[in-house]
Amino acid sequence: MTLPPGKLFLVAAILFVAALAQTAGPSSLPASADHLVASGPAGPPPSLKISTVSKTSAKPVHRTGRKSQRTGSTAVADDWTLANDGKVLYLTFDDGPQVTYTPQVLAVLARHHAKATFFVLGREAAAHPELVALTRRQGHHIGNHTWDHPMLTHLPLKRIREEIFSGVKSKCFRPPYRDTNATVAAVAAANHQRQILWDVDTNDWEKPGAAAIEHEILRGARPGAIILMHDGGGTRTQTVAALDRALTKLTARGYTFRALPC
Ligand SMILES: [Zn+2]
Repeated sequence: MTLPPGKLFLVAAILFVAALAQTAGPSSLPASADHLVASGPAGPPPSLKISTVSKTSAKPVHRTGRKSQRTGSTAVADDWTLANDGKVLYLTFDDGPQVTYTPQVLAVLARHHAKATFFVLGREAAAHPELVALTRRQGHHIGNHTWDHPMLTHLPLKRIREEIFSGVKSKCFRPPYRDTNATVAAVAAANHQRQILWDVDTNDWEKPGAAAIEHEILRGARPGAIILMHDGGGTRTQTVAALDRALTKLTARGYTFRALPC
């Protein structure tokens, strides 16, 4: 039987998607591709979008497996494909930089040879550029957490743009309060930023005690997990203590700690 060219293309496209689904193991499915690459030049070319997978997943995850270069002209594998390759954890710290606690977090990370990602507020980064520079110098990465930490979905588009575009330069963006929608994701993508949420919320901002925070870190640890903590926004003594203890135990379990490719 001979198929007309249009149908041949359709068959080829289906086979290609099927092949992609086969090669991507269940642990590396791009479940949050809809969050991450809503539109704009940072998104993958149509042939690499696996939208059927992302639509069926309720849980936002954080990696697409593949993406295009910023120009959109060439498809390349990126660092995100490494996330599930071993016992790697991605520690993230929000709402800083903060004069007292950011240096303490940095000292703990250095002691444990851990790299992390700091989602900073534009206003705090502008007030403490030396802390951002110190963080970068120590090998950590910086992400954009808006200028002023608003609930973005409550704002008109113009204000959403201002909040995201006035944040720090980075390849990553994290919406305050996990408050996001397609519009927020699209504005981040237009700013060449990938939206990054998290897998493990330690609830450290509630100050439940260092032991409780440590427990949440250890309970949530699994290969590739992104863990949320805070170095700014309040007293973070408990976070610093919990981090130190958790990293000792997780290192003994064979984990290493990397910065996100921001
Ligand atoms: Zn925050």
